Amino acid sequence: MTLSDIPSFAAGSWIAPDSSARPIACAITGDVIAQAGNSSLDVAGMHAYARDVGGRNLRALTFHDRARMLKALALHLSEHKQALYDLSFHTGATQSDHAFDIDGGIGTMFVFAAKGRREMPDAQIYLDGELEQLGRNGSFMGQHVCVPLQGVGIHINAFNFPVWGMLEKFAPTFLAGVPSIVKPAIATCYVTQLCVKLMLDSGILPEGALQIISGGVGDLLLHTDAQDVISFTGSADTALMLRATPHLLQNAVRFVAEQDSLNASVLGPDATPGTAEFDLFIKEAHREMTTKAGQKCTAIRRIMAPAAHVEAVIEALSARLAKTVIGDPRDPATRMGPLVSTSQRDDVLAKAAMLGTESERVFGDPDDFEVVGADRDKGAFLPPMLYHCADPDAAERLHVTEAFGPVSTVMPYRDAAHAIDLLNRGKGSLVASVITRDGDLAREMVLGAGPWHGRLYFNNSDSMAESTGHGAPMPHMIHGGPGRAGGGEELGGIRGVMHYMQRTAVQGSPDILTAVGQRWVPGATEHTGGPHPFTRSYHQLQLGETLYTKNRKVTLEDIETFAHFTGDTFYGHMDEEAAKANPFFPGRVAHGYLLLSFAAGLFVQPDPGPVLANTGLANLNFMKPVSPEDSIKVRLSVKQKTPRTAEYGQVRWHVTVTNQDDEPVAEYELFTMNAYEVS
Ligand code: NAP
Repeated sequence: MTLSDIPSFAAGSWIAPDSSARPIACAITGDVIAQAGNSSLDVAGMHAYARDVGGRNLRALTFHDRARMLKALALHLSEHKQALYDLSFHTGATQSDHAFDIDGGIGTMFVFAAKGRREMPDAQIYLDGELEQLGRNGSFMGQHVCVPLQGVGIHINAFNFPVWGMLEKFAPTFLAGVPSIVKPAIATCYVTQLCVKLMLDSGILPEGALQIISGGVGDLLLHTDAQDVISFTGSADTALMLRATPHLLQNAVRFVAEQDSLNASVLGPDATPGTAEFDLFIKEAHREMTTKAGQKCTAIRRIMAPAAHVEAVIEALSARLAKTVIGDPRDPATRMGPLVSTSQRDDVLAKAAMLGTESERVFGDPDDFEVVGADRDKGAFLPPMLYHCADPDAAERLHVTEAFGPVSTVMPYRDAAHAIDLLNRGKGSLVASVITRDGDLAREMVLGAGPWHGRLYFNNSDSMAESTGHGAPMPHMIHGGPGRAGGGEELGGIRGVMHYMQRTAVQGSPDILTAVGQRWVPGATEHTGGPHPFTRSYHQLQLGETLYTKNRKVTLEDIETFAHFTGDTFYGHMDEEAAKANPFFPGRVAHGYLLLSFAAGLFVQPDPGPVLANTGLANLNFMKPVSPEDSIKVRLSVKQKTPRTAEYGQVRWHVTVTNQDDEPVAEYELFTMNAYEVS
């Protein structure tokens, strides 16, 4: 690979490095392959461009518009994966490491694209939670909403995941409607830069939505305010330095930190040698030590086993590590490539030496190991190194020193309380795993270690075939952790989008809340008297369009017929004496499901038309029993509309069933799929 200049993309133009650029070496050969950095980059202009051009363009779109773009971007990147793979080998990543970084990053975009369309409205305001009735009669209500921030997502990333690290932050930011300025670590910025270039060249992104700084950020952070979010991933030292910037503190700038952590894995007492769980434990520990050469924020640094099984763990893990082929990551036989740089290798060696003052090295000699297909001394190669600490209670460095490489320490624990104590001595971690079949142990671990961990991962032979791995943050689940791990939180499905939005409590009348949220609120204006709503297409229906049905009397014969027809002969419907003795019933009452069926019979328009299917109901409440000879009627209102495919969308109806005294007896939401046009 020849030397190349890695440019930044600033305010619509690619800007080459200048004389301040830093050299970047290939992890395999140590040769300088690129340079990045430009001290005169107009970072203030980038910030203003993102905020004024990108933000405006993004906020003009709906969540669904942006979700569709995310999907298109993910598909585009999928088509160009090979180019990213080819470049990423130079960071030391093997083909299976690419699965985490490149495929994992693209997969994260797909998940946010899907969730954005499924779980968010086709609108610009997100409703967070349910309505709150604040006045006695329902004329004054409250609703939490989330609106996009009017600033910029500034994403500062660690070197180890040049693609995933960027995309896992970009996807929720973009979905929120906020532009991004991406700042990858210089050591691997050439991979991120290619990914950004592919995304920009796709023509899918609105102008200003994405910029990249390949190099230092200058005084960018001093241009931020409360509408910006700085989302940082990296070491605890850099996080502390950045978050302590007085300008950020004075302006309450949001600062999310994902930093290093002393993640651990616990072998459950039940997972004895010879069980499938024991083998699973060894397999996961091996994978965490060797994937990305241990340069994973979630990698297992501390391995805890019942004292009686420590020896077996060391033996089994060492045997597996001994089979790990270290070498040129481009060779498919290679299981572990080099670290990202020789300086990173030296840092890991220094940290391992610190661990070595309290622990004994039981596998891996950095002065004596084989590298296949590459020069061991020129590239940033290390062997996996396993340590054993016999007295983890007395050890200090073990619980605070992160050797960001293929280094892990095995230690004994006495019982669950001791394991929890050791886990928590990491003072806040991204993840801990426990390999066990014991549900009681799992509950104890969640209560005891949950407060110090962002994620707890339980695995055993029931779940192992589908489990996603100790070290893999899933876009659906939160990633982050308390204390040492930075105190930040990312991902977690739509929660991750909220980090780039402002939650605002909106209070007002039902009509005001209906207009704001594009979701009809009971008590708001109803549109009645038109054609039957089931004859109206998705596009014709308007929020609040309401049908009032005629009455239907419920007889004892109806109840008995329904009971015998369905087999539901519960005493409350069939036995007057027993029903009366029940605190809920005045005597025999109608089945709730009978009421739902009668309700459908009252509001349905039977002819073929735009209503394609009833796909479910939600939030069903039976509020008052219905006795024989009572009568019921229904109010059916259009509550919300959400497009689903090119042909139809979902209509959410608010249904209230009332009795002859206008008292509500049942309330629920009904979902139908409606064709956009009446055929
Ligand atoms: P790092 O040295 O802390 O750097 C992280 C990022 O901060 C890089 O992009 C770096 O850019 C940037 N940076 C440094 N000084 C800065 C400044 N003054 N202003 C703005 N940005 C600045 O960490 P690293 O060596 O890249 O990554 C390894 C560490 O990251 C490990 O400790 C690992 O545990 C942690 N990590 C955590 C997670 C997580 O999700 N919690 C994920 C991955 C890694 P330059 O390259 O230009 O210095």
